Amino acid sequence: LPADLRVPFQSLQAVKSFLEANDIAYSIMIEDVQEKMTMTLSRRLQRSTATFDFASYHTIEEIYEWMDELVAAYPSLVSKLEIGQSYEKRPLYVLKFSTGGSGRPAIWLDTGIHSREWITQATGVWTANKVGAGVSLPAGATQEVATCLLLPKPLGTGAPTPPPGNFQNRLWRKTRSINAGSICVGVDPNRNWDAGAGSSSNPCAQTYHGPYAHSESEVKAIADFILLHGNVKAAVSIHSYSQMLMFPYGYKTEANELAAKAVQDLAAVYGTRYTYGSIVDTIYEAAGTTVDWAYDNGVKYSYTFELRDTGRYGFLLPASQIVPTAQETWPALLDILLHALEHPY
Ligand SMILES: [Zn+2]
Repeated sequence: LPADLRVPFQSLQAVKSFLEANDIAYSIMIEDVQEKMTMTLSRRLQRSTATFDFASYHTIEEIYEWMDELVAAYPSLVSKLEIGQSYEKRPLYVLKFSTGGSGRPAIWLDTGIHSREWITQATGVWTANKVGAGVSLPAGATQEVATCLLLPKPLGTGAPTPPPGNFQNRLWRKTRSINAGSICVGVDPNRNWDAGAGSSSNPCAQTYHGPYAHSESEVKAIADFILLHGNVKAAVSIHSYSQMLMFPYGYKTEANELAAKAVQDLAAVYGTRYTYGSIVDTIYEAAGTTVDWAYDNGVKYSYTFELRDTGRYGFLLPASQIVPTAQETWPALLDILLHALEHPY
């Protein structure tokens, strides 16, 4: 499979020589990542903050404010729960959509587990607003779906909003916890779940699994929340980028058929092509992921999205693509949510 590499300037010649010496074909997707990032940020900072704009990337403070506005707009449907704190003591919020009652089947949806994947938080916000407004759901489905959708806040650094021009922060993937005995900060929150072994034990790796399962307060908060709820029927974890829809290994025919329908309905909106399949067949072997943990803990419908794009912009997806991305993801999400509610076991 092709791979996208971000190469520091001082290593550029060595990497090119290596690729050429080994006969590996390559092309340059982004000449200067720093320049593109600075452009995105300065444009973001110039926009008006008067009203919430779904077509812009927002700071975590703006997203928190918007959450309160959503709760105020739909008080009988939406509530905001604090399920824990990040390593840096930021609150971890979940938006709960429910028309009342307890112990009812639920859907868990998370975005921004990896903070640099800005399109995911933006899609989550758009989606929550959509559910809050209750529009465009299939006839008869409004109440059931609205009853069940949960949506947590971004994790990781609590970004989005690095200081302008700070390259490392904009592309930060891991949590912010200090690793004893290492100069490298953070754990990969999507390798920290109690589900299999085999991810990196090197604290400096981007996929470091952490000192032990659920060592990260962010991961533990979600795990505890899902287990305590006890009736979560589907868990959808939204990442970027690559345009893929994946499910855990060992769960084949039904998951595959549902994924096929979801990516077909997604493509019908703007023609965006997704690949799909089990995680190991589609992207790479990854232990300790959210969806593996959820599946192992009785959540039958467990899916990961990798949203736009396929590398042209990568994590620096332009804000002009936020709304189209959210719009096309919506029917795919609905396919999964409705299927889970109609076939809960
Ligand atoms: Zn991710």
